[in-house]
Amino acid sequence: MEEDVKKYTFNEDARAEGVSLKCLSCGSPLEFNPETQMFVCPACQSEFTREKLGRNLDDLNDDEEQKEYYDESIKEYNCPSCGAEILADENTTTEFCVYCQNPVVFKGRVNGQLRPDLIIPFKITKEEAKQILKEHLLCYGFIPNDFFEEANLDHVSGVYYPFWEADVDTNCSMSATGTSVETWRAGDRRYTKTSYYDIYRNADIHFEDLSVNALKSADKALVEGVLPYPIKEHIPFDIAYLTGFHAKKNDLEFKDVRPEINLKMKEYSHKMLKDTIGGYNNIKINSHNIRVKQQKKDYTLLPIWILSYKYNDKMYTFAVNGSTGKMFGDIPVSKGKLGWSFVSILFAIFLFATLIGGLFL
Ligand SMILES: [Zn+2]
Ligand SMILES: [Zn+2]
Repeated sequence: MEEDVKKYTFNEDARAEGVSLKCLSCGSPLEFNPETQMFVCPACQSEFTREKLGRNLDDLNDDEEQKEYYDESIKEYNCPSCGAEILADENTTTEFCVYCQNPVVFKGRVNGQLRPDLIIPFKITKEEAKQILKEHLLCYGFIPNDFFEEANLDHVSGVYYPFWEADVDTNCSMSATGTSVETWRAGDRRYTKTSYYDIYRNADIHFEDLSVNALKSADKALVEGVLPYPIKEHIPFDIAYLTGFHAKKNDLEFKDVRPEINLKMKEYSHKMLKDTIGGYNNIKINSHNIRVKQQKKDYTLLPIWILSYKYNDKMYTFAVNGSTGKMFGDIPVSKGKLGWSFVSILFAIFLFATLIGGLFL
């Protein structure tokens, strides 16, 4: 009982100063547990909800204060080997590059870096991510055995990737020509009647969370391969959720991804409107327009487990969606193993050929 009171007082202090990512009972650094969504103390096993840890970014008075707080709390690292730029909160020590396992260099506090609006916290634990990678990749006979060694799988790192997400209210219209053809026979004559219809469709379409990666680097395909994320899991951005994880620095502004968002809206609305036109032998689309009525954009951090693996001097990277567990990545091919299966395929073909040969001889 007394313990509780003490914790509560401490918590009040933390609330006044800022967010405390130290254990409120023993002062050890806390870790975020994706499974329970609680902050856990590895030293004394205490668990804390986010609310208990004190002030949230949103509690700060204005944008300027929030920006200052964010800049002070986030550190930037650079990898001299592969050029990766990585962000981490001040409680997280970063020594090795997520992408190439080489040591990284501390560059300083971030300055004027874009502050995220939303975040989806990790839900898949590191152990689950390792299990997902194992299960998905074991069925590829070509993967080198040492990939599955604990020491390698343990390099899997939690990284928050920057995305631009747009909610857009639109009015979409489509005009088309529908053709229907009737044929019939009368006596020894055959008649064809072709009718043309002008078709017009107009609909208000709301697009929710159109997500486009805010990176122009090579990671783009990898990161978009693990989409989508559950819409309802977005929460207002909070530095506390970065504890123990890294974040990738964005290098694309919203205006840079605008054409990609427009293209997505065009594709979706084209399909939606076209699907409502039926009953014709042929449909020709004459025009399709989108008018944006209202738009809201969010800079969002989305959780991904990343594992890089070097094989034959080439780096392979795998990604696991930190919320849904969906996996994506390129597959390293073991020459030894591929050699064997190549031989066995050749052998199978040879055997097959002999069998056919045998049959026809
Ligand atoms: Zn503790
Ligand atoms: Zn690197």
